[in-house]
Amino acid sequence: MDSKKDNNPVYSRKDTSRVNLTDEQWKKVLPADVYYIARQKGTERPWTSKFEKFEEVGTYYCAACGNPLFKSNTKFDSGCGWPSFYEPISKGSIIYTPDNSVGMQRTETQCGRCKAHLGHVFEDGPPPTGLRYCINGVVLDFEKAKEAERKYNEKGE
Ligand SMILES: [Zn+2]
Repeated sequence: MDSKKDNNPVYSRKDTSRVNLTDEQWKKVLPADVYYIARQKGTERPWTSKFEKFEEVGTYYCAACGNPLFKSNTKFDSGCGWPSFYEPISKGSIIYTPDNSVGMQRTETQCGRCKAHLGHVFEDGPPPTGLRYCINGVVLDFEKAKEAERKYNEKGE
């Protein structure tokens, strides 16, 4: 079973094809808080994400399109107020874009499938990558490893 979001026809954890919706279409299919971060490059208030101090084992997906983004074993407590990871799940899962807004040189991270704004990546993370992916929890969906495993087994493959 693929996880579907009500009202969001592009949400899929298996379909890897690129998603290209207009802003109007995104506005219709995303909850307001997800739309604000993902499409308007908003930032959630620090310390507000349920994932900030979250230690369950599993996978984090893009809340806008279902693209797998991070594994829980690359998550670390950065103390910066947002969920932080040191490595994405795969090279193509994230797009990097220079961001010189607000008077800082930063690298924006976007979902590799739907280009949702996720957050930024900084070079002050822990080994082995030395990177800190500072991600808005609003644009993350989490699935526990056991649930994924169970679903896999139910399919009898
Ligand atoms: Zn996405």
